[in-house]
Amino acid sequence: MTAQTVQQGDLVTVIGLEVHVQLETDTKIFCGCSTDQTDEPNENVCPVCLGLPGALPVLNEAAVEAAVKIGKAIDADIPEETRFHRKNYYYPDLPKNFQITQYDEPICQDGDLEISVEGQRRTVTIERAHLEEDPGSLQHVGGGGGIDSADYTLVDYNRAGTPLMEIVTAPDFRSPGEVRAFLAELEEVLEYLGVFDAERDGSLRIDANLSIIPEDEIESDDITQIGDKALAAANRTEVKNISSHKGAEKALAYEETRQKNAIQRGRAVEQETRHWDESRGITVSMRSKEEEKDYRYFEEADLPPLRVSGWKDEISIPELPSARRERFQVEYGLSEEAASKLTSTKQVADFYEDVAGEFDPDLAATWVADNLLGELNYRDMAITDLEGRLEDVNRLVELVADDEITAKNAHETVLRSMLDDGDAPDEIVDREGLGKTGEDEVQQAVVEAIDENPDAVDDYESGDEGAINFLVGQVMQKTGGSADPGDVNQLLRAELEA
Ligand SMILES: [Zn+2]
Repeated sequence: MTAQTVQQGDLVTVIGLEVHVQLETDTKIFCGCSTDQTDEPNENVCPVCLGLPGALPVLNEAAVEAAVKIGKAIDADIPEETRFHRKNYYYPDLPKNFQITQYDEPICQDGDLEISVEGQRRTVTIERAHLEEDPGSLQHVGGGGGIDSADYTLVDYNRAGTPLMEIVTAPDFRSPGEVRAFLAELEEVLEYLGVFDAERDGSLRIDANLSIIPEDEIESDDITQIGDKALAAANRTEVKNISSHKGAEKALAYEETRQKNAIQRGRAVEQETRHWDESRGITVSMRSKEEEKDYRYFEEADLPPLRVSGWKDEISIPELPSARRERFQVEYGLSEEAASKLTSTKQVADFYEDVAGEFDPDLAATWVADNLLGELNYRDMAITDLEGRLEDVNRLVELVADDEITAKNAHETVLRSMLDDGDAPDEIVDREGLGKTGEDEVQQAVVEAIDENPDAVDDYESGDEGAINFLVGQVMQKTGGSADPGDVNQLLRAELEA
């Protein structure tokens, strides 16, 4: 081994994020057009979002309210007064040739979000979060279908003017796994605030900066504190076109390995922008990165300064996922894992609390966290797809709690059939004859099974434990599978010992 060889362990990965979140408002940020992106292309447009001469923007109050909620959730400073700027660049998806955004006076400053990675708590600094408008969208058609290989490109301005919040973190991440944990937590928070629709295509778009820094250049013993000098000395790449927390982890793991390999082979890492190609699972070089000065930011003269003082105190936010996770552990005695599953969305958490309030919290946890979420996940469904039908799930848990059907039948037959065919639980129980066999009937079947199988009884009495399973099987057959095998086992033993 030569002295120049750098080991993987000597290199520290440093990642920072810019997360673009589409705010869930009915209308666009500076005009009254609908934000519905499932409509026909270029249907939801007007002179303002098409950037026609003389059209003036009017700020959407709902977008500001969403921004204030986000600011409160990440514990940011929300200044009394904040401003909009124009970011100038030319691209076909930007009808005005500038984007209205915020520059040096963003609506949220100095926030943070706590994440948990492999049982360790970490606080990620959020340097700023600002309001801006989304550009339109481009569709590359024909040829290879890619940005550089299509025959032609169509422009759809339905998206132009959709309110966005850009959330910028400090370079606080040391691994792609931490990024994934942060994005998952952020998505949960946004979803709890009711400002974000995760199901909407493109509602979360992530740009990530990644650089690799030799550990001996870090000025502190604590690798969470890199120091400005070491950061400035390292070349970083910006990875664009990431659209999910899973995608972020994959893209950054690829980029981390690519840069480490380059450094180990003594090659320089180019400072550049790279595009995450999800289908190929690689990042590809796009173009050299623009410098901030290229955007010629200047103040948006068509919008007055935004003052949220006074009003911002009236805006309240709900209990956030982290607080709810902790409360679930204390109040319902749940494990951290179960509490995490049950607080993954606000709808799941609300439903769990409904069920836990009526029945046993442990039974409710099994039913909501394991059975229901497991079956929904398998069908690629979310709890929101059960709108108006959660009462049926509640009723199913009641049938189990009241011992009217076995837990196995309730899960494997009734729940699955409810999700697949939409029938009500009682209907399925009647149709499939799943009502638990009455105790008398089970007792009768136990006596019969013993009378009809003297050999098995002899085997049991001479110490063959396997014989009891055979007898349980006989009783289950007689009762059409609707008895509880555990109960049958006990009844058989009681009868045989008598
Ligand atoms: Zn419009």
